[in-house]
Amino acid sequence: MNKQDGFDWHYLMEATSILILWSLMGWGIYRLAEGYNTFHIPILIISVFVGYLAADFVSGLVHWLADRYFSPSTPVIGSTFIVPFREHHADPKDITRVDFIQTNGHNSLVTIPVLGTFHILPLESGSWWAVGMFSAVLSLSTWIFLTNQFHKWAHVDETPQWVKPLQKIRLCLGVEVHELHHTYPNDTNYCITSGVLNPLLERVNFWRRMEWLMFKVFNMRPFHDEDLKDHVPLPGK
Ligand SMILES: [Zn+2]
Ligand SMILES: [Zn+2]
Repeated sequence: MNKQDGFDWHYLMEATSILILWSLMGWGIYRLAEGYNTFHIPILIISVFVGYLAADFVSGLVHWLADRYFSPSTPVIGSTFIVPFREHHADPKDITRVDFIQTNGHNSLVTIPVLGTFHILPLESGSWWAVGMFSAVLSLSTWIFLTNQFHKWAHVDETPQWVKPLQKIRLCLGVEVHELHHTYPNDTNYCITSGVLNPLLERVNFWRRMEWLMFKVFNMRPFHDEDLKDHVPLPGK
């Protein structure tokens, strides 16, 4: 976040990640255009929508895992991944104090291998399954790339005028729905891309059921914000 002594390698890594991801996206669009056929139009529309929903779900799943499981001392993911999510509850405005690269670098980094892998599909052939699968992953990658930016806009003091209508129609995370997550004990409405899935997932009690499943399968109990020491309650409560 802040400049350390000497060259900021982490910042360079974030900036490079964004550029690589944008290159993979641009190359993907070029390859889709190469094999374009009019029958691709409905496939593309459906794929964009599938990617939109999938990204919101993935954002919720990752957010829920980081808020409720593991700890800041967990190897590899602890300091880079768990800490920012936990600190975000203590200081929700922190996300508004970083620049574009710091906001979007990490999501770009994790998206690169996913989109890169799907580039093996034979897009130039124009086959419907390859086009459908790739454009869904391209859509998912784009929404995931935008997730932290959307999250940031839900926290800024002055939302840009042009963003407000996008929040209203759920093209990006709404302020009110995200406020529900930041309402103590911070254990609902985890989706942070568009937030469109939050009402549905809350209605079916999805995250509590997942916590029950995690306990049954992995014997892992969820961390809750009221339990700042070692003891955590049984899941499903
Ligand atoms: Zn959270
Ligand atoms: Zn937030």
